[in-house]
Amino acid sequence: MADTPPLGLTPIINASGTMTGLGASIAAPKIRDATAAIMGHFVNMHALQSRASESIVRLTGAEAGFMTASASAGISLSIAGCMTGMDPGRVEALPQDPGPKSKIVVQLGHLCHYGAPISQSIELTGATVRPVGQSTLCTDHSLRASLTSEVAAALYVISHHVVHYGQVPLKRFAELAHAADIPVIVDAASEYDLRGFLSDGADLVIYSGHKFLGGPTSGVVAGRRDLVRAAYLQNTGIGRGMKVGKESIAGAIAALEVWATRDHKGIREHETAVLNIWMRTLSGIDGVTPRIVADPTGNPLDRLEVQIDAKQLGVDASGLASALARQTPPIIVRDHEIELGYFQLDPCNLKEGDAEIVADSLRTLLTDRSQLAGVASDLSMARNSAIDGYLQWGRET
Ligand SMILES: *Cc1c(COP(=O)(O)O)cnc(C)c1O
Repeated sequence: MADTPPLGLTPIINASGTMTGLGASIAAPKIRDATAAIMGHFVNMHALQSRASESIVRLTGAEAGFMTASASAGISLSIAGCMTGMDPGRVEALPQDPGPKSKIVVQLGHLCHYGAPISQSIELTGATVRPVGQSTLCTDHSLRASLTSEVAAALYVISHHVVHYGQVPLKRFAELAHAADIPVIVDAASEYDLRGFLSDGADLVIYSGHKFLGGPTSGVVAGRRDLVRAAYLQNTGIGRGMKVGKESIAGAIAALEVWATRDHKGIREHETAVLNIWMRTLSGIDGVTPRIVADPTGNPLDRLEVQIDAKQLGVDASGLASALARQTPPIIVRDHEIELGYFQLDPCNLKEGDAEIVADSLRTLLTDRSQLAGVASDLSMARNSAIDGYLQWGRET
């Protein structure tokens, strides 16, 4: 294959979306050039972050913004900023002394795991999570009662990982928090919409630079100027270990600029064409029900859900997913909900020619069932495979 990764690494076909474990996303040439161009220079980092702020403001409509190491870092810094304000002494005292306002209100149904528990990105600061409601129901009165004077901020998570019903919508959440004079932080790590959460009432919003934006590993924090400045000040405290380099800031600025001029409509049309290729490949195969489904948080992105009738096929969705992962190159599908009998194929991170390879592999595996003989079902895969990778890594062989 002409386009192989460096360092002898195996090429991978990513049909799963923006996954940290696969290197998140592919950066456009302009973005790669921007990271390389700054590497040979000394720069004033505050000036570079001011330049980042300009791009963030232009794209989000926020008052100000800055870049950090990741969205996860952005959450910790934003929470910490809401606790310390512009007091450098209090910044250095974290996490041991979180101060008088150290509770963070989050709906229980939003306490998700995105590769690490979101509660930990809050607690790293010394804050305490105050979960509100039950997993599938949070009422306005529960939320209102939780917004007491010890609360530093209320965190709202937009994600396919969170419970999708029974939760207070963002606008209402912000109204209630603001009535108690409490700022709202929105984790929008994996969202396309760079303006809507701020206009719905977020005081700070956080994006991953390396997910849909297609930038280098980075996090974008945008919002109210006073809170952005207080979050930025954390770089002299807990933020030190979350430092973002000049190359990532320059790359993330380029990613925002590329985003502003990207042919979103053309990309969507191409993705739809890919979904239709896969749909045609799978239609008429007994035991397989393909269906185009919308993104659960409203990103302008559809995926192909592939429902597998294990009785008819002799293998379940997890078995077929592992058979795909054993192809050359490995095809990695989206398997978050695999115990429900399906996986999804995501068209947003494919390289040239990948869609056809996925279609051919599906056709071969599903028409010559001998290829599936001996493929084991592993329903614990989606839940445990990420941690297994960490536990296996570095073992003596
Ligand atoms: C991916 C993700 C994160 C973490 O993003 P990083 O930039 O990889 O740290 C946080 N929250 C949500 C909802 C995510 O999807």
